[in-house]
Amino acid sequence: MRCNHDGGTSARPLLFLDVDGPLNPYAGPRRALYRAGYRRHRLEFDVMLRRSHGAALLALPFELVWATTWEYDANISIAPRIGLPELPFVEWPETTPEYGGVYFKTACLVDYAAGRPFAWVDDEIADADREFVAEHHRGPALLHHVDPAVGMSEEDFAALTVWGSRVGPIQ
Ligand SMILES: [Mg+2]
Repeated sequence: MRCNHDGGTSARPLLFLDVDGPLNPYAGPRRALYRAGYRRHRLEFDVMLRRSHGAALLALPFELVWATTWEYDANISIAPRIGLPELPFVEWPETTPEYGGVYFKTACLVDYAAGRPFAWVDDEIADADREFVAEHHRGPALLHHVDPAVGMSEEDFAALTVWGSRVGPIQ
């Protein structure tokens, strides 16, 4: 086991949630982000967040888990600003080797899920991660790339809803 694993508490699939990219579209032009309802938050550095993301995430048929280098700080700095409750989070190991183009998070998430269906939203997902998950995770998985210039869009939420509803509760 390379990473923490809590197995979750509900029968819903897991949704591993990255912050920078999906919720904080760091690569987006500010003006467009403001128009889309994002607001700037001055933390250690500026973060752009859209308040409505919290309710939209809670409405998804998933159990939410932070999968971000913010780790527990996502509960302090991000969750209250978009109306999310405290969520479980994946703790990354001290050393996070990347090999064969596989992102450092990928093996951890497979460990955390331990066979349970999961979706993962992140701006760093690539083909090598899809191949790794297909090879090492025995349950259904959706690796959903989000554009870090746009953040999570209506289309992203729609795709997650369709997938999560189809996977449904674990029997
Ligand atoms: Mg990211």
